[in-house]
Amino acid sequence: MSISNRLKAVWAHLPANVELIAVSKFHPVNAIKEAYDAGQKLFGESRVQELAQKAPLLPNDVQWHFIGTLQRNKVKQLLPLVHTIHSGDSERLLEEIQYQAQKQNISQVRVLLQVDVTTEATKHGWQPNELREWLNTGNYQKLTNIQFAGVMAMASNTANIGIINAQFAEVKELFQELQTKYFSHTTNFRMLSMGMSQDYEIAIQHGSTHVRIGSAIFGDREY
Ligand SMILES: *Cc1c(COP(=O)(O)O)cnc(C)c1O
Repeated sequence: MSISNRLKAVWAHLPANVELIAVSKFHPVNAIKEAYDAGQKLFGESRVQELAQKAPLLPNDVQWHFIGTLQRNKVKQLLPLVHTIHSGDSERLLEEIQYQAQKQNISQVRVLLQVDVTTEATKHGWQPNELREWLNTGNYQKLTNIQFAGVMAMASNTANIGIINAQFAEVKELFQELQTKYFSHTTNFRMLSMGMSQDYEIAIQHGSTHVRIGSAIFGDREY
């Protein structure tokens, strides 16, 4: 199947209120162009260097979503390119985003708080309690160039649907709790980024607003 046909098959599964981020990491610019020409505008990349190489070769109205682990020394390069950073996973990273945004005169960088509800050491993100503790300090209010736009999470890579359901349910509950407790003064905190090729239909059942789908659109990646 062609990229555009696979794209259309994914679109057909998405309710109108769910946005698709086509994850194009490790796929060439011509593959992204094919998806773009079919009507896809939101793309996800996980490495700053790769995004920096691809972005200038694609139209300006592409929205780039950064979904990979972000090193602090790459923030400066990323900011001018990115629409939303999904991987806000530590205070030190958020402080660097704040610092660079101010330097670059970017008034609002959209950032999601990445949470880890798996027990896998390989996954990045805040532990829910660690995130609550940090938000309770109020320090996030000093990061005035950051627009906290919601929550991102991944479920465990497992065939056990029960585990996936439980994890997405936990993320959804945490998202609503944060919305109510810390971000009720704004309508900006509204993105729930969860669901990948293998589990996006489950994520949508749990209220995902943004699914991040790669291999179901672009095929297998070479690692
Ligand atoms: C690679 C990646 C995806 C897409 O995964 P697929 O299984 O190819 O759909 C989604 N989210 C993150 C954070 C990723 O790194």
